[in-house]
Amino acid sequence: LLTVTGLTKSFGANRVLDGVDLEVRRGDVLVLIGPSGSGKTTVLRCLNGLETPDEGVVAFDGGPRVDFAQKVAKADRGAVRARSAMVFQHHNLFPHLTVIENVIEGPVQAQGVPKATAVANAERLLARVGLAEKRDAYPSELSGGQQQRVGIVRALALQPDLLLFDEPTSALDPELVGEVLKVLRELANEGWTMVIVTHELGFAREVADEVLFFDEGAIVERGAPAKLFTQPQKERTRRFLDRLL
Ligand code: ATP
Repeated sequence: LLTVTGLTKSFGANRVLDGVDLEVRRGDVLVLIGPSGSGKTTVLRCLNGLETPDEGVVAFDGGPRVDFAQKVAKADRGAVRARSAMVFQHHNLFPHLTVIENVIEGPVQAQGVPKATAVANAERLLARVGLAEKRDAYPSELSGGQQQRVGIVRALALQPDLLLFDEPTSALDPELVGEVLKVLRELANEGWTMVIVTHELGFAREVADEVLFFDEGAIVERGAPAKLFTQPQKERTRRFLDRLL
């Protein structure tokens, strides 16, 4: 579905991404792990157009291909951005809009979907995550886990090829983590293509097709979770896992 090569990004003198290569096949779940500050979030933000890489090629199969070392046309940048949707650590819902209004905002405003169609689609997705009856509630009336599930529905409503999750459970109270992971697990089983930054290693082990271990802006080691978690090849990976497992 997507090939990323040589992604680099610096903030001032801080080289946050130092030549990241990755490949995402349709239906795959990639999990990015690694210490704080290792660049995982920045990778997602570059894919979603929230950051502009200094260099690197982002190429979707049969779709847009952008080489950030060259001057990038606005249309190409938009075309790349349109392929993915991001779920943030904090749900980022609009506080003054109801649940359903939050969900249809993207499809109606950005994609030109007719409102009735967007509403029907949003209702179907909300029902799927058990939030049909919260349709007209405001975000402040929901629990953190419910807010995050609305955040996921809002991303799904854009019908992206690729879902990006940036530590979707790390801002939640421990008892609310399970309900959000359950939704992610269901999406993985339904065949959604996902790239997930998470510290939930048990979950990663369960859903990931491939785990990428980041340190200092580079992928140190990658592999199937069964292998990477039990037989890490690199000392740095081993040290990181020892601290978390
Ligand atoms: P965490 O698990 O803490 O989210 P991470 O691996 O996702 O960490 P990033 O958020 O990608 O790491 O950040 C990598 C580095 O880039 C950090 O040193 C951070 O301070 C820096 N950084 C990120 N965004 C910016 C920015 N907009 N301006 C300056 N520095 C930034």
